[in-house]
Amino acid sequence: MKIDRPRGICHTCQEPFKSGTTYNSTLQIAAESWVRRDYCEKCWKQQSPEEVIAEWKVKVEKKKKHVLSESAIWQVLKSGNPDIGTKPLTYILCLMMARKRKLRVTKTLTKKGQEFQTYSNISRKIEITVTVPNLTPVAFQKLQREMDDFFSSDES
Ligand SMILES: [Zn+2]
Repeated sequence: MKIDRPRGICHTCQEPFKSGTTYNSTLQIAAESWVRRDYCEKCWKQQSPEEVIAEWKVKVEKKKKHVLSESAIWQVLKSGNPDIGTKPLTYILCLMMARKRKLRVTKTLTKKGQEFQTYSNISRKIEITVTVPNLTPVAFQKLQREMDDFFSSDES
């Protein structure tokens, strides 16, 4: 499972993002994982619409802060895409939001040895059932750190 992490350059023109500027990020579903693409403002305007699960803005700052884009996470969880619930990354997102008390487990189910959990946020009209992945604690922590990068944002 691989997360396509931000590289600090525009996907189209390959120019590095300058400090103080804002760029646009999109998330798409790939076979094994998710793909994040970053675009500078100029290329973003010329960008033809693609099927994305989420899009959000990121501010480039000298001192790196780990601010998660909650709006991007909600977009993913609300997307209704049938593949979302099977991705281990989605499970990690749900756990991260549950830790912030923004989602809670409302149902657990084991079918043919596989555990599923349903996470809900009633006011946001979110109810998503995710496959609980078989991850070692080390793999789990690594993925969670990568998610911080993946969903970095200018929100505070
Ligand atoms: Zn560009």
